[in-house]
Amino acid sequence: MSRPYGSLVGVRPGKLADSMLALGFPAAEVVHRLALERGVEGERAHLLVEVALTQQALLAPLRGRRECVAMYVSIPFCPSRCAYCSFPSHSLEQYRRAEREQYLTGLRLEIEAVAAELKRLGLKLCVVYIGGGTPTTLTALQIETLLSTLSTCPTWEGPTEVTFEAGRPDTLDEAKLAVIPSSYRLSINPQSMQDETLSVIGRRHSAQDVRESFALARKMGFNNINMDLIVGLPGETPRAVAASLDEVLTLKPESITLHMFSPKRASRFGAGEAWEPLSNQDARAAVDLAFPALRTAMRPYYLYRQRGILGGLENTGWSVPGKECLYNVMMMTETHGVIGVGAGANSIFPVPGEVWRRHANPKDAALYLKRLPEILNGKRSLLSDWRAKNES
Ligand code: SF4
Repeated sequence: MSRPYGSLVGVRPGKLADSMLALGFPAAEVVHRLALERGVEGERAHLLVEVALTQQALLAPLRGRRECVAMYVSIPFCPSRCAYCSFPSHSLEQYRRAEREQYLTGLRLEIEAVAAELKRLGLKLCVVYIGGGTPTTLTALQIETLLSTLSTCPTWEGPTEVTFEAGRPDTLDEAKLAVIPSSYRLSINPQSMQDETLSVIGRRHSAQDVRESFALARKMGFNNINMDLIVGLPGETPRAVAASLDEVLTLKPESITLHMFSPKRASRFGAGEAWEPLSNQDARAAVDLAFPALRTAMRPYYLYRQRGILGGLENTGWSVPGKECLYNVMMMTETHGVIGVGAGANSIFPVPGEVWRRHANPKDAALYLKRLPEILNGKRSLLSDWRAKNES
């Protein structure tokens, strides 16, 4: 069994490197200790330290600013369901337009209630992540209304980073991009640039759609675009992954997230649909081909692992300097509170030395609407309890 991270079995293996660096250990000693005491392979130990140092620099402006929080907005709709998906996403074929409108009305109520509570408690948003699902399944008018509701939330005095997931290129068009500010970080996710693979995983778009959506976003002024790729999709060899990455790098996005394929039980692949997993050796070969190519243009800035992750490896976020996604860093370092709104969104508030305050919205959109009054009350108490803890 491959154990590149030795005895580090958690989702966030970087936390140990981060805390050792914070205690003043030199980087070289942290690498040495991770290898010696935890059995982390040398290359992975270097990666953990490199990522931790980058994250510490990125978070420096927010250090001690406990009033700054992140917000995650869930739009749980997609054009179709990908075979590997375990997210709380509803296919547009099942969730019709009127139901989507009802969902957005409920979401607006929740955002307004949270905005009022943030103001009352002196809390401010510093990053917002609009994900799902695929938020660009909304119409241009619905996007405009959502962004206008979000603008009622108080923000800190620094630049507020906003990511808008446009995960499926088949949902993007000029009218939608025209209402999303071009200063936002956009995420256009091919997962693979091999048409055959895209068809097998049920994406219903081609590699050419990705190229065209990317070109359109660039033409409309977006200069912070992320692209996601997955290593180990059914039928893909390490060379196929390298070919997809080469294509994506040719487009010159500002960041790339490289995921390892790990189907969950809630996905079609996880529930028994036949697929041939990539061997640990091939997963390693794919990553060994990908990392040097990524390094020619970017640096790694966040990293996490999942249970049963392919090859025992890691998911990594890469970015050109200055275009990193602070939301991702905050999620990994757990330094600030995250308030989630919408179906399936989780809120997590760290309390030093105590069990963290958590709140999970129901994953099902209809249940979310039904339980909205209770959810709003839960959110209010979560925020005021947490604020009281932080002030005491
Ligand atoms: S686009 Fe993302 S959220 Fe939507 S079905 Fe595919 S993997 Fe799931």
